[in-house]
Amino acid sequence: MPFSALCAQLAELEAQGLRRQRRVVETPQSARVRLDGREFLAFCSNDYLGLAADPRLVQAAQEGGARYGVGAGASHLVLGHGAAHHALEQALARFVDLPRALLFSSGYMANIGIVTALVGRDDAVFADKLNHASLNDAALLSRAQFRRYPHGDSGALEKLLAASRARRKLVVSDAVFSMDGDIAPVPELLALCERHDAWLLLDDAHGFGVLGNGGRGVLAHFGIVSPRVIYMATLGKAAGVSGAFVAAHDAVIETLIQRARSYVYTTATPPLLAHALLKSLQLIADEQWRRDRLHKIIHVLKQELKINQWKLMPSDTAIQPLVIGTNNAALAVAQRLAGRGLLVPAIRPPTVPQGTARLRISLSAAHSEEDVRLLASALNGLQ
Ligand SMILES: *Cc1c(COP(=O)(O)O)cnc(C)c1O
Repeated sequence: MPFSALCAQLAELEAQGLRRQRRVVETPQSARVRLDGREFLAFCSNDYLGLAADPRLVQAAQEGGARYGVGAGASHLVLGHGAAHHALEQALARFVDLPRALLFSSGYMANIGIVTALVGRDDAVFADKLNHASLNDAALLSRAQFRRYPHGDSGALEKLLAASRARRKLVVSDAVFSMDGDIAPVPELLALCERHDAWLLLDDAHGFGVLGNGGRGVLAHFGIVSPRVIYMATLGKAAGVSGAFVAAHDAVIETLIQRARSYVYTTATPPLLAHALLKSLQLIADEQWRRDRLHKIIHVLKQELKINQWKLMPSDTAIQPLVIGTNNAALAVAQRLAGRGLLVPAIRPPTVPQGTARLRISLSAAHSEEDVRLLASALNGLQ
């Protein structure tokens, strides 16, 4: 049987409590979702501002479809770069206050394209240990030296930078760490990059729309303006739609247009998505109440949880991980919550380090204070 080795691997995953299951969602993304005909209150999505099913975005997508059709038909460099894509790139660059922006079909593709276009064999990538998988995959694919430093450890990063003989140095970091919820020490990282003549690539997948004045992201949060920064953010999380962009110095963007293979060799995303994203950008900027609500309920969760056995990680963002420990224990807690109509994902290795399996509670402006109280009291009752 040619599949027997695969079956053995799958059985092994099952035995370790690591086999993933997909669930089929029957409703739009929101605080309440229906699975298998049953309603749940969900704390699983990255739709931090509650925009994914906003009727105004749905309407904008319909309008975009009517105006531009569905398929882009070609890659950006051939004939797929539409007026909506172009307008969105300009709006994004203005929004994050950087010279120029470039759209990618997803955050994964953006990271792969950025890193492989900017560094190669004679270069080095320096990465936080807890960075997103897409940044790690990108570094490996680039063939640059790949040096990882312990999470948040600027001292260790400095030593690596000082010892490096690489031609080009690229420091890469999640801005908000996706499984821990903490914010990277960006001013320190930038100071090190300046001292050692390195570039700083920030992946703001979880900060864009949420952090900083008007949701402008981690650079606005820290008040940072620097030509060394290559800023990347995704558009399928707080922005509620799909895709990603990178914003940076014109020479960086022009290089990516010429050389980023995950940009060049792929069909442009449907222009109706870009049209919807123009609307989303406006809602992100205008509706401060969404960020205010999010901060309020983060506070409510911390206040209401009264747990000794498990540990809520120190996070001030919408990602509030509760570390349980073993894979099976985390799964068991998630299953008991599900029995009460509450969905919280159990995140296990290799997404997080061994022995730190956790519930990744993610909060959204779509949740009410009452929703968060329900979750807290269920968790308080389970321990
Ligand atoms: C989600 C995520 C990505 C990938 O973005 P997609 O648009 O979902 O492909 C990249 N980096 C980080 C930190 C993420 O959380």
